[in-house]
Amino acid sequence: MLYSDLASTFDRLESTGSRLEMASILAEFFRGADKSELRDIVYLCQGKLHPDFYPSVLGMSDKLVLKAIVEATFADEKKAEQLLIKSGDPGEVVVTLMGKKKQTNLFAFDAAPEKGELSVGDVVKSLGQIEKASGKRSQDKKIEIFKGLITKSTPNEAKYLSRMVTGRMRVGAGDMTILDALAEAFATKEERPEIERAFNVTCDIGLVAQTIAEGGMDSIREIGVRVGSPVKVMLAERLPSVSELVEKMGGKCAMEYKYDGIRVQAHISRDGNVKLFSRRLEDLTPNFPDIAQSLRTRCNFAEAIIEGECVAIHPETGFMLPFQTVTHRRKKHGMDEAVRDVPVRIFMFDILYADGNDMTSLPYPERRKALESGFSLGGMVQMTTMKIVESPEDGERFFASAVSARCEGIMAKSLAPESVYRAGSRGFLWIKYKKDYQQALTDSFDLVVVGAFYGMGKRAGKYGALLMAAFDPEEGLFETVCKLGTGFDDEFLDGMAGLLGDDISETMPRSVDAEMVPDVWFEPTVVLEVVAAEITLSPIHTAARDLIKEGSGLGIRFPRFTGRVRDDKAPEQATTVDEIVRMYGMQSHDSDGLSSEGGNAREE
Ligand code: ATP
Repeated sequence: MLYSDLASTFDRLESTGSRLEMASILAEFFRGADKSELRDIVYLCQGKLHPDFYPSVLGMSDKLVLKAIVEATFADEKKAEQLLIKSGDPGEVVVTLMGKKKQTNLFAFDAAPEKGELSVGDVVKSLGQIEKASGKRSQDKKIEIFKGLITKSTPNEAKYLSRMVTGRMRVGAGDMTILDALAEAFATKEERPEIERAFNVTCDIGLVAQTIAEGGMDSIREIGVRVGSPVKVMLAERLPSVSELVEKMGGKCAMEYKYDGIRVQAHISRDGNVKLFSRRLEDLTPNFPDIAQSLRTRCNFAEAIIEGECVAIHPETGFMLPFQTVTHRRKKHGMDEAVRDVPVRIFMFDILYADGNDMTSLPYPERRKALESGFSLGGMVQMTTMKIVESPEDGERFFASAVSARCEGIMAKSLAPESVYRAGSRGFLWIKYKKDYQQALTDSFDLVVVGAFYGMGKRAGKYGALLMAAFDPEEGLFETVCKLGTGFDDEFLDGMAGLLGDDISETMPRSVDAEMVPDVWFEPTVVLEVVAAEITLSPIHTAARDLIKEGSGLGIRFPRFTGRVRDDKAPEQATTVDEIVRMYGMQSHDSDGLSSEGGNAREE
């Protein structure tokens, strides 16, 4: 397939804001594509070459890309730099520069014989070489290869290639849209959940696309959990009291301590290899080599996938330490020292696979039993503390013991026959209850930064407040819920610009839905934990707009940053709009007057 066909499809995707229409455009394109190329095409639509858990990432700095563009178009370097500062998009820069050359006829871009003949295969091959380039001259090699691609490209192709290598491919082809498109192209709407299940247990959208194109729904149904391919994690709902939680579970449930650490999914292979994935699919094995080794030694299965929470432990007392301590294990440098200085334990709470058996379809009690008997527990490898609870009083006592053991709260887990492991879903089979709930009305929120406001007074010259959004997976949009200006210490304020990066935009990103206009916009990437006093109807915020009241969305009042950057969460794993709606439903609504802007501007 020609890359120009794919680039034209990107144009069509960019020209619509409707997810339905995007899915139809993609479905039509997927149907016409060569089956053997579909996997690569799907990755390219998302600006990638591999599934998300693949260790290396395609990436060139703006500086390198600009250099390649300048060399390929014989443009003036200063001018190219200015164009980039103005637009912030190397894709636009290359289009402008190629267009200029054509006008002045200095360089017959569109007349070059190979223009528009780049195949998808050529592009994948060259981008793969860029990704692999290493060693002393790696930067020069990358420039050379990229320049080669640009020289063979039409301006439109060059636009998307430049965006792709700089991590700016945002044509709207998110996972959910691609799954919709695959269902439309190769199956039926009713079969869509089964396609999504295949994605949730493999986290590989390209594999799912290739499987359905080549083998149809029968092959999709055969896709199961496999060692090495991370599974989307199961998540918990929340309720405001222990008694409601026991009631919701039908009067009887398992309760486990809720440990405050880092969730890992451990893939233990037959060959002795262990890989630890974070919930955003990063490889955490280098951060917890001791845990990986202990799991292998203590695992009685030849191969298994388990989940647990890694928690820092006081070296002398053995007490669990706060979350901040275990984050020392997440840094990029000085890992040897961190491993030595920060002892950890893994508290295992689930098993997804063991010796050829997909355990995700077993009910919780059977999984728990298999996990307990599948390991020689001890040392760094422990089970979560668990108790079968049959009354609210029992539950309260268990909660009190969890808090005195320095845990965050409890997780109630259903014992029902249908209490399977639901990959990638948040539901009432697991319900969390945290000690914070006793002070505040609701759980903390994990919100995404979509914009920033320049500070005033003491904060002059820095960002003073942030525009925060929740995620709406249905629409694929980040919808605002508050302006956040409280809870930042000086160190955080000083580092805020660095944390948010320089991917600033003058216009609202396509994936954001906001009415409040910040001084600068950000592509949604950074997730911050926020606590708040309450959720209210808001005329200015866009989350759940018109859902509860015509003309109103939901905003959160008196938001405060807790100090925790949720770098273990991708923006799509932030608190969803649906969750906020449910949390709103759990509050009493005496105070539901419309506040002028969610009530939080005062907080700055
Ligand atoms: P939170 O911010 O409350 O941890 P979350 O969005 O990260 O929430 P939830 O599914 O809401 O995830 O809460 C469950 C999280 O709690 C898991 O992701 C896991 O990291 C952690 N956890 C700690 N102890 C347990 C346990 N016993 N069983 C399951 N998860 C546990």
